[in-house]
Amino acid sequence: MTGLFLPQRILETMIAQAEAGAPGEVCGLLAGQDRIVREIHRGAAGEGGNGHFSEFLDEQCPTAGEVSAAGLEVLAVYQSHPTTPAMPSEEDIRGASKPGMVYLVLSLLQPWRPELRGFRIHNGEVLEVPIQVFNDRDYDPEPDYMI
Ligand SMILES: [Zn+2]
Repeated sequence: MTGLFLPQRILETMIAQAEAGAPGEVCGLLAGQDRIVREIHRGAAGEGGNGHFSEFLDEQCPTAGEVSAAGLEVLAVYQSHPTTPAMPSEEDIRGASKPGMVYLVLSLLQPWRPELRGFRIHNGEVLEVPIQVFNDRDYDPEPDYMI
């Protein structure tokens, strides 16, 4: 029940999505196995615009179903913070309802240095978890799903 291993390529996809969506917020899901992220499911532009994690998860239920059918599970939900730090807001904390989920916040507050931090959130308690980015140059990536 700790952190996540995140391929560099998927982090770069998240950053590109966040930059393209700014000044709005973007979001998506990361799926994988054994805490290793294998797939990114980007939320369509405009979705999750209010930055409510739970709202996003509820909207994406069909996608979560497809993920588990592929033998992967949803490991994390991510959201960009275009102008605020890489910390869940009060609203994010209230909206985070799944105890096993990693909630990722990608901040573009310093645009030259995007910052990603991960948290587990349960009953209003926030615990930071380590996100280990690994170079996946030799790893055959799963397709990038656009939802
Ligand atoms: Zn937020």
